Amino acid sequence: MNRIVYVNGEFLPEAQGKVSIFDRGFLFADGVYEVTPIINGKLVDYDAHIERLDRSLNELKMAWPCTKPELRKMHEGLVARNKLKEGIIYMQVTRGVADRMFNFPKDIKSSLVAFPQVMSLVDNPNARTGVKVVTTPDIRWLRRDIKSVMLLAPVLGKQEAYEKGASEAWMVEEGKVTEGTSSNAYIVKNNTIITRPLSNRILAGCTRRALFRLAKEHGVIIEERLFTPEEAYGADEAFLSSASQFVMPIVEIDGHRIGGGQPGPVVRKLREIFLEEAQK
Ligand code: PLP
Repeated sequence: MNRIVYVNGEFLPEAQGKVSIFDRGFLFADGVYEVTPIINGKLVDYDAHIERLDRSLNELKMAWPCTKPELRKMHEGLVARNKLKEGIIYMQVTRGVADRMFNFPKDIKSSLVAFPQVMSLVDNPNARTGVKVVTTPDIRWLRRDIKSVMLLAPVLGKQEAYEKGASEAWMVEEGKVTEGTSSNAYIVKNNTIITRPLSNRILAGCTRRALFRLAKEHGVIIEERLFTPEEAYGADEAFLSSASQFVMPIVEIDGHRIGGGQPGPVVRKLREIFLEEAQK
């Protein structure tokens, strides 16, 4: 790849994009991130991602690395310099560089890095067939509402899914589904969408938030409650949501076929509505 990336104020060819071995993101996973989708060269739902970044930083008492207008300019700069039409911008803020110590070092400046990834978001072939999911125990910490770069549990969950021929793992805690390793989780029963309410146990997805607004506008009912894997096996439809997958139909959970193994009408409609909105 020959991308232009961003490192602490500079746009650079990716081979020159380097950070210190003393960066606390590297040593402690002391950092947060955001992933913003790009369609037709435009940032999608950017403000929601920045609002969540602000919250993550505040929860970890981490300083902003730059001003909000500068952050927007950085995103637009990466899109322009890479001529990015469709894909994502990944950005990461860490507490900064200091000699290794657990408590917060005084007077350090947050680090900011970002890079683009080209992806086919609108015409994702998985959306036509639907994807498979397996369940796995949720072994994460209890501040999942913070979009932290401490992602080892999701890495293990996703790897387990891939080894079992699935593309996502739904994590289960106290017998109930929390969310996917990198997505929120939903089932559909009798035309009602069921998903876990927000708390410290899941990430407040920006796509979830947009979906709630669109569902309301289109008279689709969403019930926020916990559900078990067994209830999911018997659902009419199921799906996941994330900034890079939008609304993605699920056709199999732990080997149980959902909706006859085909994306169902409620999820197909939701994806269509979502894509229409994202391309405005
Ligand atoms: N839940 C987890 C654990 C995630 O990592 C993500 C996205 O990365 C989501 C949910 C979905 O959030 P969003 O819709 O903002 O991408």
